[in-house]
Amino acid sequence: METVFKILVIGARGVGKTSFVQQYVHRIFTENYKITLGADFAVKVLQWSETETIRLHLWDIAGMEQSLPLCRVYYRGAAGCLIMCDVTRPDTLVSAYHWKTDVDENVQQLDGSPIPCMFLANKCDRSDRQLSTEEIRKFSQENNFIRWSETSVKENKNVLETVR
Ligand code: GDP
Ligand code: MG
Repeated sequence: METVFKILVIGARGVGKTSFVQQYVHRIFTENYKITLGADFAVKVLQWSETETIRLHLWDIAGMEQSLPLCRVYYRGAAGCLIMCDVTRPDTLVSAYHWKTDVDENVQQLDGSPIPCMFLANKCDRSDRQLSTEEIRKFSQENNFIRWSETSVKENKNVLETVR
């Protein structure tokens, strides 16, 4: 049996969305991704059990980070959402807040409840970090994320582990 889930990957420009998808799906990290316009799309196949396969369709809102209304085009049919921030840039936490609110208001599961969202605080390898673990934890709880994690896409830390 095969099940497809559409997963949104959102967050401010430069937080590491494209890097995350590349690392998670293809296990590569490079410093120079081309900036694409329009949503980038990648498929991650998970062998859930002997008989069940899960295909995650990851939608990266590439190049449209500045326009929340444009991003809404991609919300339709989403089963879940990954919202990312960059721990060296506190403003990306504010963006994450706006996106979470917007996703909650505009995408629902069949029973009308909001779709599950995970929060990833990325670039935790960097020494110029400005957001603490405590701030991240509090933010995630206050904004009803189902899970949160500190990641370094660069060092492949908590990337495969987090999203399974
Ligand atoms: P996007 O705009 O959200 O898609 O962000 P990108 O994936 O293009 O990443 C923006 C920049 O941050 C790139 O130069 C990446 O190499 C870098 N980057 C992404 N993840 C990490 C990370 O975990 N640690 C560090 N130090 N840099 C990262
Ligand atoms: Mg990108």
